[in-house]
Amino acid sequence: MRVLVLGAGFGGLELATMLSESGEPFEVTLIDKSDAFVFGYSKLDVMFGRATPDGVRLPYADLSKPGVELLQETVLEIDPAAKAVRTDAGSHEGDVLVVALGADYDIDATPGLAEVDEFYSVAGAEALAAKLPSFDGGRVVVGVCDAPYKCPPAPSEASLLLHDFLGDKGVRGDTEIAFVSPLPTPIPPSPETSQALLSAFSERGIEWIGGTRISSIDDDKVAKLDDGRELPFDLFLGVPKHRAPDVVIESGMTENGYIPVSSENLQTRYPGVYAVGDVTTAGVPKAGVFAEGAARVVAKVLIAVARGGEHPPPYDGRGSCYIEFGRGEIARVDIDFLSGPEKTGVYQAPSAALVAEKKEFGASRRARWFGHTPVGAPA
Ligand SMILES: Cc1cc2nc3c(=O)[nH]c(=O)nc-3n(C[C@H](O)[C@H](O)[C@H](O)COP(=O)(O)OP(=O)(O)OC[C@H]3O[C@@H](n4cnc5c(N)ncnc54)[C@H](O)[C@@H]3O)c2cc1C
Repeated sequence: MRVLVLGAGFGGLELATMLSESGEPFEVTLIDKSDAFVFGYSKLDVMFGRATPDGVRLPYADLSKPGVELLQETVLEIDPAAKAVRTDAGSHEGDVLVVALGADYDIDATPGLAEVDEFYSVAGAEALAAKLPSFDGGRVVVGVCDAPYKCPPAPSEASLLLHDFLGDKGVRGDTEIAFVSPLPTPIPPSPETSQALLSAFSERGIEWIGGTRISSIDDDKVAKLDDGRELPFDLFLGVPKHRAPDVVIESGMTENGYIPVSSENLQTRYPGVYAVGDVTTAGVPKAGVFAEGAARVVAKVLIAVARGGEHPPPYDGRGSCYIEFGRGEIARVDIDFLSGPEKTGVYQAPSAALVAEKKEFGASRRARWFGHTPVGAPA
């Protein structure tokens, strides 16, 4: 079975790894435009100077798996009916096509955002790593431009880590931090997690402004909110509006911006075409751990087809997200979005065990996908 996988992120890497390890004669072609994978949370490490950009890169050149060919090419056109793509280097087709191209950032959707900082791309985090050390205090707005966005806890983490960073620099007392989010609470499916974060914000003097988006940024350094409020700032740390990559939208596979999939087996409306991760509306948050879980279901379906065996149970939409509270503390929220009648999120308070667990989360994936632990890379 020729399996064409578009995107070597969380979803694509896990899928290719499982198919390779299955021992079945899959011929996997994995296509990505980048030369390296970077964990989402590494952007916070880079931004706050805890890691270098080089230290968090996992080069695709190190990926070597039986039955998997990785091509560094940009996908320019997807024909889901033919399970074929055109790239900047040629054409490819498969017996099965899996779209795992993630979500892109729509900077222009928020007027003025291009003139300020964002921390959701590696380049944005790098630019902030250069800028933050010379910030001497003032008003900071951590602003989310729209939902859904990747890793719902990340802007809370950024606010708390910023508090520590400025405290260590001795300028926290001269700084006001406001965190603007379109979500009504920091983590809506888990009231307990939201409460823990709201308490942490209030203990640290971080102003939480929930339930409203950043609608535009004025030239004179004022963030305008949907609810009419205006927040002057000296430093803006933005989370841009997300959208599926253009090539996916142009393929006709999307509805309301993302690819609808069966929550049972992640198949799109095109037979033999699956989609996993941030590019889909699978009813789960946009986070690596959910992209990985969805990829595992697709891998099990394809392995069952190859072996003529029983199909796996449906995708359960479960995943755990680690949350940095600053001061070296890490909590966890265990999300279950699909297996029960209601979405649930169970909070695990910060502990030393969770610090070790998050480290292991990164290390185990590095080892599993790339077969090594690069020197100097953070967990
Ligand atoms: C600051 C921050 C912190 C985060 N923290 C966490 C966390 O702690 N835990 C967690 O689970 N998630 C976290 N995330 C979210 C996580 O990074 C994403 O949700 C996850 O990477 C999504 O996986 P994916 O496979 O859907 O897409 P991605 O991992 O984004 O992979 C998509 C791939 O497609 C490639 N691609 C895109 N377009 C093209 C094209 N036209 N041609 C070829 N290749 C293309 C891209 O180069 C990319 O490699 C965080 C994100 C951010 C920004």
